[in-house]
Amino acid sequence: MVQISGATKLLGVMGYPIEHSLSPVMHNAALQALATQNAQEYLEYIYIPWSITTEALPLVVPSLAEMGCCGFNVTIPHKQAIMPLLTETTDIAKAVGAVNTVWLTHSGWAGTNTDVQGFISPLKDLDRDWSTITPCILGCGGAARAVIVGCAQLGCQKVHIIGRQSQKLQHLKTQCVSALSVEIQVHLWADIPALLPQTDLLINATPIGMFPQPQKSPLLATDIDQLPSNAIVYDLIYTPNPTLLLELAQARQHRIINGSEMLVQQGAAALSLWLGYPAPVETMRHALEAHFSR
Ligand code: NAP
Repeated sequence: MVQISGATKLLGVMGYPIEHSLSPVMHNAALQALATQNAQEYLEYIYIPWSITTEALPLVVPSLAEMGCCGFNVTIPHKQAIMPLLTETTDIAKAVGAVNTVWLTHSGWAGTNTDVQGFISPLKDLDRDWSTITPCILGCGGAARAVIVGCAQLGCQKVHIIGRQSQKLQHLKTQCVSALSVEIQVHLWADIPALLPQTDLLINATPIGMFPQPQKSPLLATDIDQLPSNAIVYDLIYTPNPTLLLELAQARQHRIINGSEMLVQQGAAALSLWLGYPAPVETMRHALEAHFSR
């Protein structure tokens, strides 16, 4: 069992609330594995959850640098509020309009967004011509924005975004269009039946169907019957696994993807950035699986 020493450095995740976060499980498993592989008696880094209110955020962030913190993740509700507290942000964070990973530079805290990399990860090796695929994204919140940037990176020319508030949809469209080359078409939920027959990639970026309401699905079985037979159905939700949406899609022989690989890969990308070498992805995946099967 590796131990904490006086030289152990600090990593962490801040959010409010934070108790639900699975990041400490994944990251500490990875850090322990790295210490063991390198035959180290002590952990070089430890990863801590921090429950930080919005009011406390501007006080906490500068003092973390003073405490020897090398980097941290940011989750709900701070992914946008953190941005003015950083000295630099990557182009990808600017395109998403949110930061989930922060690291220390000589001039202060820098931020990026690894959700995009996490989202793309289970898609990028599939044999598809992404330039001919128009994804349909359910939801227009924070995760949907990372998905739009991810679809643009894959090479999609156009995306359909489904929301329930016209004003919010228009705001998203205006912001993203100025930052991205992808064409964005926004729709209300009533438009879905017309879109499904031309949807080769359907992405659920809403919390509908997430624990503790696993009996819910953003689409009905009769909706899924309208998808082309080779459509991929991707649910960003990682608990339950599979969601009802994915069960319905799987029963109709669609390729399904759940949110756990996105979670693992966004975490691995953050850890690699902090450590300066590749994160043990397999260890992180196993730690998450072990947590879910408890
Ligand atoms: P968010 O910012 O709160 O956005 C949620 C979106 O879903 C909003 O557009 C919201 O509509 C819509 N929505 C919520 N309830 C709805 C309902 N009953 N009917 C129709 N639309 C509804 O949340 P987020 O951060 O984008 O997260 C969305 C989902 O992605 C969550 O399940 C989260 O766990 C998952 N996620 C997974 C990962 C991963 O690593 N796998 C990463 C990030 C997020 P309004 O805009 O009208 O409120």
